[in-house]
Order: sequence, then structure tokens, then C-alpha cells
Amino acid sequence: MTAETTPAPAPGREKTGIPRNPGRHELGMKATLLFPDRDIVERFYVPLIYTACRTCYSELAPDEIFRRAVDGQIDPAKQRKLIQGVIESGHGSTIEHIVFTFGISGVSRTLSHQLVRHRAGVAFDQQSQRYVTFKGASTMLPSTVAEAEPDLRERYEQQIEGSMELYGDLVAAGIPGEDARFVFPNATRTNLVMTTNLRALIHMSGLRLCTMAQWEIRRLFQLIRHEIFEVSPFLGSFLAPKCVALGYCDEMGNRDEHCPIRPHKDNVLGAWADKAKAARSAGRDLPVT
Ligand SMILES: Cc1cc2nc3c(=O)[nH]c(=O)nc-3n(C[C@H](O)[C@H](O)[C@H](O)COP(=O)(O)OP(=O)(O)OC[C@H]3O[C@@H](n4cnc5c(N)ncnc54)[C@H](O)[C@@H]3O)c2cc1C
Repeated sequence: MTAETTPAPAPGREKTGIPRNPGRHELGMKATLLFPDRDIVERFYVPLIYTACRTCYSELAPDEIFRRAVDGQIDPAKQRKLIQGVIESGHGSTIEHIVFTFGISGVSRTLSHQLVRHRAGVAFDQQSQRYVTFKGASTMLPSTVAEAEPDLRERYEQQIEGSMELYGDLVAAGIPGEDARFVFPNATRTNLVMTTNLRALIHMSGLRLCTMAQWEIRRLFQLIRHEIFEVSPFLGSFLAPKCVALGYCDEMGNRDEHCPIRPHKDNVLGAWADKAKAARSAGRDLPVT
């Protein structure tokens, strides 16, 4: 790669580090696949996606394709091969036909605010801070704060405890929970039910398993991926940081390639430009896309 195509790092600028893997810390959060169970996934989910894919290319009616797939008349490996090709080609509607419902508990409001930003193909129901009057709301402690100077950690904990105490006093004084909750910090834990189709789950996982994602939501999606693997290693294999499917990293914050999972887009395009230039100098042309 030439200096022309590779941006030189700013003088004295170190590569930034990959955030520590949140999986190493016990965060007290849970993600449980409520529905479906392994039997349903094995028996119906792959045949259902196969039916959606195959209907596009077959004279057979969908109910007949589904019957044959469920009855084992179509080799499961053949079903998986078609599905894999269709997913990799980006024909995403075929995987909108299957859904997964998760019980998510003990995550912070910081996390839930990020999670509910996803709009397409996903439904949420969240524990209400209006209708639930908390007796002992619990909170999430980030590991950086846990490992900070003892004095700083103590001030943090005092602040959180102070908020919780004030909440209790406000409620005891007759202030409605919906108003008392204004003192809750982002660290307050919450519970949600999330139902998502596979397309949306792959999309969300692509963003949230990325090392650029915030540690807590990254951990949540590691737990979610684990749950899917438990019922289907095949479907679980599609849950990966988005760069894995793309083949390159498109995150602005990773231009220095501190995260090594895939090369950054700028460098891939730079390498392509170098190759095209070398080919032209040799009197050949690379195909233009
Ligand atoms: C690392 C990271 C940092 C972030 N930082 C911030 C931040 O600082 N501030 C902030 O506000 N947000 C931030 N976000 C949230 C981000 O901007 C998105 O709102 C969030 O990730 C939801 O993803 P999505 O837009 O793909 O939506 P989804 O609802 O998951 O939609 C899936 C896909 O459907 C399509 N789609 C959905 N709705 C529409 C629509 N209305 N019109 C057209 N197409 C649609 C799009 O292709 C979209 O990608 C961050 C996210 C990540 C992963």
C-alpha cells in the first residue's frame, strides 16, 4: 500500500485499543430465549425458511414444499445450503418468517435506551417506572468505576445510593412513582421482553457485537448469540459483528485498524486503487464495478 492511499497516522498517535471484552465480567444481566425451544427450531424453523426460499424457484405450492421439508424428504444439509446462499446474497425477507422471543433482565436503562432504538422487525415491552413502585431498585456498576480510585468509586456509589434514597423518600411523601422516578440514574436496572425476526436479529447483532459497540449491549448480544447457538448452531452462526459478513470494517473509529477482525474499508479501497494503477501501468485494466 502506498503513502498516497494509506492515511499516515498523526505524529505520536497510538493505535486505540479494543475495548475489553465485557464477557469477562459478571454483570448480573440475563438474556433467556423464551420461545421457541430447540425442538420447534429443529423441526420447523429451518424448513420454514427453506420453504420461503424454495417457493421463489419452484412450481410446487409452499404447503407441499414445507411438508416435504418437515417430513425429512429434503436433505437438511441441502436446506441449509440454500438458506446460507440466500442469506449471503442479502435476500432478507426469507428470514423474516421466523421469530425469537427473549426475556432480558438486569440490564441498565443506558442499555435499554440503545436497544429500543431498533425499529424494524422487533417488538419490545419494558418494565414500567410508572406502574412499578420500586422498593429496592438495583443498579449496574461499570467495571471502570469498580476499578477506579477508591475515593472516586465511593463518590459514585454515594451518588447512586443518594438517588435511590431520595426516590424512596419522595414515594413515602406521596409523590407518584411516575414523578419520583425522575431521580433514577441511567445505571438503574430494567427488564424487557424482545421479539425479533431473524433478519432484524442478524442486523442488530452485526451492530452490537462489533467491538465499537458499548460494552454492556455488546455483552447482551453475546448472551443472545449463546441462546441461539443452544437451539441452532446453524442459525447462530449468522450472528456476528457486521464486518464478518461485509468482509471489511466500515466504522469511522477504526480507521487505525485497532480492531483487527477485518481490514478497514479505506485500506481495502486503497489496495484496490493500487492494484488498478499497477494494472493500468502494465497495460491491463481491472474490471470496473
Ligand atoms: C456503535 C454505535 C454507536 C451509536 N451511537 C449513537 C449516537 O451517538 N447517537 C444516536 O442517536 N444513536 C446512536 N446509535 C444508534 C444508531 O444510530 C441507530 O439508531 C441504531 O443502531 C438502530 O439501528 P438502525 O437505524 O439500523 O435501525 P433498525 O430499526 O434496526 O433498522 C434496521 C434497518 O431497517 C432500515 N430502516 C429502519 N427504519 C427505517 C426508516 N424509517 N427508513 C428507512 N429505512 C429504515 C434501515 O436499513 C435499518 O438499518 C449508535 C449505534 C451504534 C451501533
